[in-house]
Amino acid sequence: MNTARAELGALRLEELRFDNRYGRLPQDFHTRLSPTPLPEPYLVAFNPAAAELIGLAHSEAARSEFAEIFCGNRLLPGFDPLAAVYAGHQFGVFVPQLGDGRAILLGEASGALGRWDLQLKGSGRTPYSRMGDGRAVLRSCIREYLASEAMHALGIPSTRALAIVGSDQPVIRESVESAAVLTRVAPSHVRFGTFELFASRGQQEHVRTLADYVIDQHYPQLREARAPHLALLREVIARTARLVAQWQAVGFCHGVMNTDNMSILGLTIDYGPYGFMEGYNWAHVCNHSDDGGRYAYNMQPRIAHWNLYCLAEALLSLMEMEDAEAALHEYEPEFEQGYLRLMRAKLGLASEQAGDAALLQDTLKLLHDSRADYTTFFRRLGDFSSAPHADNAPLAELFAQSASYGAWAGRYRLRLALEASVDAGRKSRMNRVNPKYVLRNYLAETAIRKAADERDYGGIERLMQVLQRPYDEHARMQAYAEPAPPWASALSVSCSS
Ligand code: AMP
Ligand code: MG
Repeated sequence: MNTARAELGALRLEELRFDNRYGRLPQDFHTRLSPTPLPEPYLVAFNPAAAELIGLAHSEAARSEFAEIFCGNRLLPGFDPLAAVYAGHQFGVFVPQLGDGRAILLGEASGALGRWDLQLKGSGRTPYSRMGDGRAVLRSCIREYLASEAMHALGIPSTRALAIVGSDQPVIRESVESAAVLTRVAPSHVRFGTFELFASRGQQEHVRTLADYVIDQHYPQLREARAPHLALLREVIARTARLVAQWQAVGFCHGVMNTDNMSILGLTIDYGPYGFMEGYNWAHVCNHSDDGGRYAYNMQPRIAHWNLYCLAEALLSLMEMEDAEAALHEYEPEFEQGYLRLMRAKLGLASEQAGDAALLQDTLKLLHDSRADYTTFFRRLGDFSSAPHADNAPLAELFAQSASYGAWAGRYRLRLALEASVDAGRKSRMNRVNPKYVLRNYLAETAIRKAADERDYGGIERLMQVLQRPYDEHARMQAYAEPAPPWASALSVSCSS
């Protein structure tokens, strides 16, 4: 009965069933505590697509209890709230106890549709808060909410977002902002840094317990492997390589690729000062706090590899060094192949030809030199006419100042001819891999200002509509596909959240 209603997405809040397997791990893994209440909470955003993951009826968001529950003021039967501790390398420096200072795992909604961690981010202090207030601001909750759903819709593994609950409680950052709580949904929030915590403390038995837990719950197919822990490392390496290949292909810059922000499931996690590439610059640094450019766009693949070394080091008590090293060598080919495959598709190439990697490099050089809008370029490339005298004006216009565009277009035309590419079919394939809409920073900012200044949340809703179907043409939504207006050049995002 309950199962059928879960499948229909018809459950009431009180009918959700919870478990908290993470809570059954030893005491050193977490602290049980209740979220800190927020005064007069109100619903800012609700995402029906995430509600469906747990079988919750959309109509439940209209109940006043909903905001109370998803800011942590009221607990549902079965919740077993806890804060999970982890460490991590922050900008290359190991921090022995780093998080989780502001997220509380409520439990796993478990039922017909699998098991999903429900986690409140910004629900008050925990024993791991260090100097922090345990809160998140409305601005950063909206940014994470939009980005995580946008990434999911682009086919990129990500944590999900169920809701944002706001409150007028002031929170001090660079200026005074207001508090909010984001409810995240994911199969697991375990990070590389969770392993690093126990390894750094010499608690090798906890490293083993955690590795076994992750295999059991999330990689059950590895249980029967000859060396399950090594198999886990290899699987995380492969997933991370494929994830970062997807980031690079769509132009996503994470901004803070610390090892605590790396998911053991290969999900994009912890959206802070991220950015989607606009005018293409391969050295782009989206995080204003990242002075050295450690997490620049073109550094991401190498940084992910570095982070995997940290994970492997934390797992060393469970495997031979040579095996771990051999596994780490699998990263680069996995990334390179994955990236080239995605970029070939973005270029509309159906076959593999010898010069493809060089053509791709030169395409990116053309984009970089002209700072052409990355998303617009690939979307317009779908309309490229390979007829001999076609001027392809909308594409050419992106390179008005460039002397190299003409030669590049000729070369691209020849490459299409090499596989007898048919324009119409190519266009429809390309429009399925080249999004029309990405979460440009100024779009998020516009929605945030409306929400913060006027309590108008319609901007979030409208953005979600295009971001949840980023490959489609949306009537009357052309403005959301446009490059940033001049006022946006003053925007910057930092670690403050
Ligand atoms: P981040 O750089 O956002 O990934 O943050 C790193 C860690 O710092 C997180 O895991 C949190 O536990 C902690 N943290 C960040 N902001 C706060 C805050 N306002 N209060 C307490 N802890 C925080
Ligand atoms: Mg983090």
